[in-house]
Amino acid sequence: MPKVYLFTDGNEDRLQLGNKGANLVTMTKLNLPVPPGFVVSLGAFAEYKRTGQLPMKEIEAALKALQRRMGKRLGDLMVSVRSSGPVSMPGMMDTVLNVKNEGHIISCIKAVFESADSARAVEYRRINNIPAEMAGTAAVIQAMVMGNADQRSGTGVAFTRNPNTGENSLFGEYLPVAQGEDVVSGRRTPMNIEAFRQQLPEAYAELNRIGHVLENHYKEMQDIEFTVERATLYMLQTRSGKRSGQAAVKIAVDMVKEGLISTEQALMRVTHTDLDALLHKRVDPSNTIKPLTKGLNAAPGAATGKVVFDVREAVEWAQRGPVILVRPETSPDDIVGIHAATGVLTSRGGLTSHAAIVTRAMGKACVCGASELNVDLGAQQFTVGGRVVKRGAEITIDGTTGNVYLGALPLVEAAIYGELDELLGWADQNRRLGVMANADTPEMIRQAIRFGAEGVGLLRTERQFNEPDELATIREFILADSPVHRSEALVKLRKMQRNDFVEIFKALDGRPVIIRLLDLPLHEFLPHEAVHDPGIRSRIEELQEVNPMMGHRGVRVGVTYPELYQMQIDAIADAKAAVSNANALIMIPQIITVQELLWVKKMVKDPSAKVGIMMETVRACMRADSLGSTAAFFSFGTNDLTQATYSFSREDVEKKFLPYYLDQGILMDNPFETIDVNGVGKLIETAVKSARKANPDLSIGVCGEHGGDPRSIHFFHNAGISYVSCSPFRVPIARLVAAQAALDEKDRLIRLTRDD
Ligand code: PEP
Ligand code: MG
Repeated sequence: MPKVYLFTDGNEDRLQLGNKGANLVTMTKLNLPVPPGFVVSLGAFAEYKRTGQLPMKEIEAALKALQRRMGKRLGDLMVSVRSSGPVSMPGMMDTVLNVKNEGHIISCIKAVFESADSARAVEYRRINNIPAEMAGTAAVIQAMVMGNADQRSGTGVAFTRNPNTGENSLFGEYLPVAQGEDVVSGRRTPMNIEAFRQQLPEAYAELNRIGHVLENHYKEMQDIEFTVERATLYMLQTRSGKRSGQAAVKIAVDMVKEGLISTEQALMRVTHTDLDALLHKRVDPSNTIKPLTKGLNAAPGAATGKVVFDVREAVEWAQRGPVILVRPETSPDDIVGIHAATGVLTSRGGLTSHAAIVTRAMGKACVCGASELNVDLGAQQFTVGGRVVKRGAEITIDGTTGNVYLGALPLVEAAIYGELDELLGWADQNRRLGVMANADTPEMIRQAIRFGAEGVGLLRTERQFNEPDELATIREFILADSPVHRSEALVKLRKMQRNDFVEIFKALDGRPVIIRLLDLPLHEFLPHEAVHDPGIRSRIEELQEVNPMMGHRGVRVGVTYPELYQMQIDAIADAKAAVSNANALIMIPQIITVQELLWVKKMVKDPSAKVGIMMETVRACMRADSLGSTAAFFSFGTNDLTQATYSFSREDVEKKFLPYYLDQGILMDNPFETIDVNGVGKLIETAVKSARKANPDLSIGVCGEHGGDPRSIHFFHNAGISYVSCSPFRVPIARLVAAQAALDEKDRLIRLTRDD
């Protein structure tokens, strides 16, 4: 196999020529103005690494051919020597310009080959997970064109479309009387490409034409390097250009309309990170202020506001302007404050802590587990690295990155626009997974519908007791000292719940809603602060548990306090009677046996009502056949199922040992974020199989945090799950990724058939 290839040889094998080399060959084939040259291949690189020898004979022959082509001898002819890896590593390897003699040409090739193992290249590969087999480089030797020859010469970089907005027009920079290194080194500041158009209109028009030729060939937006020598344009490099989320969406959709790519290709080109960045407010990308500290990026979006520590104060101050609620951690007691705040910052708690889940569901920014933060509730201040931030000071939190800043930084709005809608419409036509939302209030439901949710896959009813009146009434129920007081509280609760459900059904306008009956242990509704009343104190003590997550919660509350579940079931029926197109399903949490399901089903008077269960205990997964033939549907509560499978407390693990496990590589991923395919995933697959055997049409969803996680969505698609349910702000991401999972599967099937 040859080790050296002339650009005119026509070989475009990226694994031999690297990206730059292969693209120069392609441009030569397309008759674009590429200064001639040749590539010393990756095969030569591998041999050099083994033997220390370069293929001298082939290099000399290629040099001769180059000299003949240029009609110059080396010495008069100058060349550049650049790296060309199979994976682009911008700026990581050596480039040598203006090489004049053969001995220098040879040492430069060696230098380029050696630079593939430089510390910064190794570090770059580590950070970007580039595998070792992709670590090599070819060397590109190319005749120099002189961007510094005269006033009508220069060098530049251009994108065929705007990489920030996606707008279809040439975007870039130009430096007159300069060589590439002058731009890269930052020694001189380049001018806007518009200046190039004005100075050299013909060369600009040629660049524009070439941009179109390249896009037509690669079907991708290109990032081009060019040089102008005495008003003649030369192409030095092209590759697909990096772009912002907004640009990724616009370019993909525009290219479909221009007939360059199919809708399927467009869907595969936009990533979930592209969408994530689009759907929330962000810190202005031009910000240069350094963060004060960093925590976990718990709920995406950025928020600015005045620091408050007290929940009541949060509600009060929020009427006058945005506030950020700062707490060591949050509990259900803090809900009104969280609701009023624009963002939440905690010093403890992980990505499935109360603060994280609640804010994500509400679409509020949250940074949690910022462990450098010392929150002093008594003094109404927090300190970090010796700096004191007092109540009322303005801060900015960025829940997308986890950064916390002093002061109110400028934010940019989430951009939802026509192209995104179009792209997601194509996603809906291609996906098999349903996409529902976890939403608890009419406001959130409307948001979820705007983002394309088909309905609500999880409505946590305990969240309805966040309002002060509801909270007070459920406390009355829990603390009632007589059956009469207890039923009085129940009557009030039924009415309140009914009214809530009516508003919820109206917001859904006929779409389905899965209402989960109470899951929370009752003591969570009682005051957390010091209580003086001895009666209340003893009731709190009675309800207190050592291990509440595994204690008296879920259906166990429904079994021991049947009147509570009965009240909820009746309130749902009352509301259904009031809203003609209501489509409500009832879901029971924490089921372990079919007997519990039958126990609750007895309370449901309407024979047409659908009663399903949450699959969040290991036993339920093992009993999926009998449960599957009795339940109307399943929904995997993967938060609790992960907790139960690992015996990791979801409230504590992320602030204790999990980061260490991840650092040391004992676990590769946080199992509360990305589904643990080999453990929890096996349970899910087993349960799905045996449930579907018993009941082939059973609808099976996922409503834990994993329902909005891209990698997990791929797994759920392949496991035969019917739908995922996630927080409203993740709905567009789930729609896109569900389509990508379906397209991946189609692709796999096509390849399998071909192999046959
Ligand atoms: C779950 O356990 O995955 C779930 C959705 O329920 P919650 O988070 O409310 O316990
Ligand atoms: Mg649960």
